[in-house]
Amino acid sequence: MILETADIKSVLTSSNTTQKMYINGEWVLSESNQTSKIVNPANGELIGTVTVGTEEDAKKAIESARKAFYENGWMNSRARDRAELLLQISNKLEERKEEFAYLETLNNGKTLRESLGDVEDAVNQLRYYAGLATKPHGQTYDVPDDIQAMVVREAIGVVGIIVPWNYPLVMANQKIAAAIAAGCSIVVKPAEITPLSLIRLFEIIDEMGFPPGIVNLVLGSGRKVGAELVSNPNVDKISFTGGTDTGIKLMKSAADTVKKISLELGGKSPNIVFADADFDAAVDYALYAIFANQGQVCSAGSRLLLEESLYEKFVPELVRRAKMIKIGPGWNDGIEMGPLVSEAHMNTVLNYIEIGKNEGATLLCGGNRIIEGDLGKGYFVEPTIFGDTTPDMRIVQEEIFGPVLAIQTFKTEKEAIELANGTAFGLAGAVFSQDGAKAQRVIRQLRAGITWINTYHPTFNEAPWGGYKQSGIGRDLGTYGFEEYLETKQININLKVEPSGFFEGK
Ligand code: NDP
Repeated sequence: MILETADIKSVLTSSNTTQKMYINGEWVLSESNQTSKIVNPANGELIGTVTVGTEEDAKKAIESARKAFYENGWMNSRARDRAELLLQISNKLEERKEEFAYLETLNNGKTLRESLGDVEDAVNQLRYYAGLATKPHGQTYDVPDDIQAMVVREAIGVVGIIVPWNYPLVMANQKIAAAIAAGCSIVVKPAEITPLSLIRLFEIIDEMGFPPGIVNLVLGSGRKVGAELVSNPNVDKISFTGGTDTGIKLMKSAADTVKKISLELGGKSPNIVFADADFDAAVDYALYAIFANQGQVCSAGSRLLLEESLYEKFVPELVRRAKMIKIGPGWNDGIEMGPLVSEAHMNTVLNYIEIGKNEGATLLCGGNRIIEGDLGKGYFVEPTIFGDTTPDMRIVQEEIFGPVLAIQTFKTEKEAIELANGTAFGLAGAVFSQDGAKAQRVIRQLRAGITWINTYHPTFNEAPWGGYKQSGIGRDLGTYGFEEYLETKQININLKVEPSGFFEGK
């Protein structure tokens, strides 16, 4: 444990007052006068009350972001100044990383070690993009005329950032850092149920002295605030992370204003284990792939594709170890899995478990909400593994976004590839094999944007993150993620200034 229990109160200093949104450089309550209660998913206790923004609040934030960018000079702000602001935010966040980690655990349910990793990631994202702020570069072209042709990169303008609840700080932070580095102004909308760490990040941002309107935080529902950001013609770009169904809605709405849009969506990622894999490593990573963050990871290895000859040895060991996972409130020492994020989401996951049973899959372990003792107050679900699945089952095709693993088996490399690519998603995937050539051959056949050989999950802020197929459009992170916030302008300079002679008459 990082903080003493008594410090929980200090982490939640503002739990008794309604927390505000940040619009045009000021902390404000929504004119709706509505509030929403934020709950700790490990015990159902109230941990905060926040104002609930509306379309009108979103419009105000968009207007202020637009004014700041187009009228008040942010469009021509200096990259070095923006880099400095990002560095200062990163330093402040690092100083307070334990407090942020604790808050994330209390709001989202993830274990403290995972929250701490998230905050460290966020610090690194700010530093990475601070470095990149001064690096966008254009090109010059040798064209067949007396023209100097060149391309310059410019900030895309006002960016609406919409993020989910599974990594409340990191998902928003990576987009904020890249957009600010590129010189955009932003309006951020967190998931309604996990706004606390982002509100606190904006407290740090507020201390930095950004000109009003550059950075805005609007709380409220996706249906109202999120939808307004997407449909409003004064937003130049939407950067979205969330479910595929929501992404489809967003794309349709964004089409009305030909808005630039990048989408980081869901997944049903295959973790392929060949019989020649390192056995211990493969079992270990199969667990980590699906049960980290309670399975609420877009890139989770939610389908284990096992070479048939390995099944009898692999599955009992996997199940034995899944049953050993230590479940409890994320802030307790040694806890390896926390609760699901909310009661509603827990019910969705439990419903999928019922679907799996009804479809005829064999429940190998788990399958239940934990109702005994104190854990019964929270939204804890046992690590769950299904065997005997078929490719058409819903638990194989649909993203469950919880601690539920579906095992599929294959006999040949070709079959493994077909099964791996056999869903609508294409976010991530892994291959475990000690045959290097085979592992690379298979990885190259996966239609997925994030892949691993003999490991699962490690990704880095330096590398692009995003999916093929219905897992998204565009990329977050790395230089690719930076590009998402830049426009490309062609400039042609006449080197021989005289009439063109296109029309003869003078
Ligand atoms: P949702 O799609 O339900 O919500 C994501 C965000 O969109 C929330 O802020 C939500 O607001 C908002 N939203 C909902 N409806 C609309 C709308 N009509 N217009 C605009 N905004 C809207 O996803 P979840 O929060 O349930 O997150 C889980 C999903 O996110 C999973 O599918 C997961 O795979 C995906 N994800 C993808 C990642 C990636 O990098 N590819 C990473 C992390 C998660 P509100 O909270 O108010 O509903």
